[in-house]
Formats: sequence, structure tokens, C-alpha cells
Amino acid sequence: MKKTSFQAEISKRQTRCKVCKKTIDIGIIRIKIHSYDHFDYYHFECYTPKIKQYISKSDLGIRLDQENAKILDAWLENWNKDYVPLDKAFHETPTFSKLVETAPSKYRRAWLEIFKFLDAVELFKIYSHVNKEFYHISWDEELWHFYCVRDYTNAALDDQKKNYRTQYIILRMESCFWCHAHQSQERFNRCPLIGKPICEKCKKLKRFEQLHKSQIESRYGINPNLLQLKFGLGYWNKKVVYRYMVEEALETFRNRNKEFLLEEMKKINLDPTLVDFVENIDIKTVDKPWSEILQSSGNLYLLPIHEIIYNYIRDRKAEKKLINKLKST
Ligand SMILES: [Zn+2]
Ligand SMILES: [Zn+2]
Repeated sequence: MKKTSFQAEISKRQTRCKVCKKTIDIGIIRIKIHSYDHFDYYHFECYTPKIKQYISKSDLGIRLDQENAKILDAWLENWNKDYVPLDKAFHETPTFSKLVETAPSKYRRAWLEIFKFLDAVELFKIYSHVNKEFYHISWDEELWHFYCVRDYTNAALDDQKKNYRTQYIILRMESCFWCHAHQSQERFNRCPLIGKPICEKCKKLKRFEQLHKSQIESRYGINPNLLQLKFGLGYWNKKVVYRYMVEEALETFRNRNKEFLLEEMKKINLDPTLVDFVENIDIKTVDKPWSEILQSSGNLYLLPIHEIIYNYIRDRKAEKKLINKLKST
């Protein structure tokens, strides 16, 4: 996913502002943006970045004198105050200390072995709140050392400093969220769309393929506006999302359609075989068009109502028609 970038410079020739359409005078600060095959220019005060995300100063082409650079810095600081920094793992090294005094559990060894099967962040965020016994275990050095080694195989641990709990959290903040490869502070890169660090290798995986709206429409046969996706900035300033996000959103969307339909059907007290049909629709295979389902259905007796139901779950088409039809059967 792309970071927001533009050039802030002193206008050397007259250009027109893309927002107010008025001339940008020579000698004042202007924003220059590369857009596919041309440049767009803006008055500094007319410009609002297209995507709401953090802007790192290092991604900006800056050719300003001291006075104007200060104006830009102030603008950046104000813009960035609501976002996670993309160029550093954290502002300050986190420090943690115990909030309540607790005594070791009689069953420490047993709990430890159980917690080793679980997710470290769940221990931290959920189980440690269960009771004092779990809270105590959530500070256990042996357990956190285990998590560090298990989850970040390539990380160098500082065995002098110990405090593996903090070390784990730092590793997590600095490592690729998908493959857990550690990224050095100098080469740190957080994906603006998901707000998590991601490495160069993972960016090439299929699940991180970038799709824009018309691609989603043609590939999945669905109007992307139905999926409530959060878009980021892709090449040529197109709005894009990762493929895995579309697939997850599709599943949620279709599950919701299915649940809604079942609720409605129960209200009407329908033929149980029709309810059965809906219950047996597998959301993961709803990608297929109805014609394929018909072909592969064998001797299953399928009616037009089945097709309407299927298509409704697939892409929420013809909702009223479907409800009326159900009421009349
Ligand atoms: Zn303007
Ligand atoms: Zn990775």
C-alpha cells in the first residue's frame, strides 16, 4: 500500500489550483502531485490529502526555505496527530509494571504448560484479567521467554536484560505482522492501510494483492460499496484494498444475508425443506454462479425460489421480491 507523498515547493511559474481554480502566484508555497501522466497543483491552504493516513516527512519532496519549511512542519504535525506513525515502531520504548501485588499460584507449572498453547496477546489482553492467579502468571518470565522464541524465531533476545514480556511486545511492534520477520528500526515500514508493520516479502503474497473497486466488481461479481471496505492509496493514487480484506468482507456480508434470511423465514413459518436449503448453503462456495450450482446439483430438485434465495445470499439482490415470494409460498 502506498504512503501519501507530494512535493511542497515554491511556485516558480504560474499554475492553476485544482481546488479553487485560481492562479497560484509565483513565489508562494504550493503542493505538486504526480497523477498518472501529469501533475496537479494546489494552494497549500486548499490541499487536503485524499486518504486519511499518516504522512512521513521523508516521503515528501521538500524544496522549501526555512520559513516555509516551518509552516509545512506545523501543518504536518497537525495532520498527523490522529494517526499511527508509519516510519517508526513506537514513540517511546514501552515500560510496564505490575499494578497489583499477587502471589504465585500453587499450580504455576500446570498453568504455564497450558498457556504455552495459547496466543501471547490473548494472555496479555484477556486471561490476565480473569483473576489474580492468571494476572500473576501473565508476568512469568519463563512463559514470555517461551513466547519470544516460539513467535519470533529469528529475533535476538537480550538475555542480560531479561524482562521478556517487554521484549516480546517490542518484537511484536517491530516485526512483520504476517510472517513475524523482525524489521530493524532504520528500515521500519508500517502499512498505512492496516496500521501494522509488514515486510517486503509478504507484500508479494497473493493475499496482499491490491485490488481497486472495478477489479473487485469484475472478479467477485459484487458491488464493492456493499462490503464496507476501508480503502488505502495504491498506484496512480487509486483507492485500493488487499485481496484478503475483500474475501473476509465477502464472507461476513454473506453470513449476514444468510442469518437475516433465516430470521425472516422463521417469522413466516415456512416449509422446513426451504429452511434446510438455506441452512445448508456453504458461504465459502457461494462465489459460484447459480448455473454452476444447477449443473452440479445432480438429482436435487431445484426451483426458481432456490435461485432467488441463493442470489440473495450471494449479493443481496432483489430483497423485496424475495420476501414477497416467501410470504406467498
Ligand atoms: Zn486554491
Ligand atoms: Zn512478512
